[in-house]
Amino acid sequence: MSPPPRKLVAGNWKMNGLDDALAEALELARELTARPPNCRVALCPPATLVHRLHEALRGGAIEVGAQTCHAETSGAYTGEVSAEMLRDAGAHLVILGHSERRTYAGETNEDVSRKVLAALRAGLEPVVCVGETLAQREAGEAFDVVGGQMDGSLPEALQGRRFALAYEPVWAIGTGLTPAIDDIEAMHAFIRSRLDERFSTSSAPILYGGSVNPKNAAAILGAREVGGALVGGASLRAEDFLPIVRAE
Ligand code: PEP
Repeated sequence: MSPPPRKLVAGNWKMNGLDDALAEALELARELTARPPNCRVALCPPATLVHRLHEALRGGAIEVGAQTCHAETSGAYTGEVSAEMLRDAGAHLVILGHSERRTYAGETNEDVSRKVLAALRAGLEPVVCVGETLAQREAGEAFDVVGGQMDGSLPEALQGRRFALAYEPVWAIGTGLTPAIDDIEAMHAFIRSRLDERFSTSSAPILYGGSVNPKNAAAILGAREVGGALVGGASLRAEDFLPIVRAE
């Protein structure tokens, strides 16, 4: 059996970052050059910074990703950015189906699935987000919700392709709350079995996301079936993100 892939610790800068944010990325890059990480490390800045970050980090340990893409290659879609454009700008990954996109931009599972196809077409590694709301968890629906999101958001074309899942309970994002480690392990085991049913050869890492910080990172990254972390707020500053990367 081949060894499991290296874990992926990815920072989601959301709608944060102007030109001076590059200094934080460069600081992180310097630290990781001095002592290479045990995991893959990615930063997903707003689309405006993808190219600048790619140029600034060229040849180093940090991969650059984007936070969404449009499903079409090009055309009359004012304000949108295609997967091909992001790849052209230097991105290697793209976060898709983040709960903020599902909530504020009304993205459905079907939309996410089409964007996954676009990412594959352009040569971007999709990082597909799933996760339940607090009301859904309290109603005992978390597994059904996540299973349904996986069924609807993951097209068959992912068979044999490189991709990642991110389990992000909506109630844990940006709140300082995290599930108990047992609950993370139970959901990740469920996601793994669902992936195994659909994608026979998939070794896609299953990231955990939601209020990961330097204090809880080691316990979360050490949990069974946790293949990395998707980190929002704590990825904005090198001094917070570095200890999370080092926790692996
Ligand atoms: C996220 O938005 O993907 C996220 C995990 O945010 P935070 O780490 O701030 O909870």
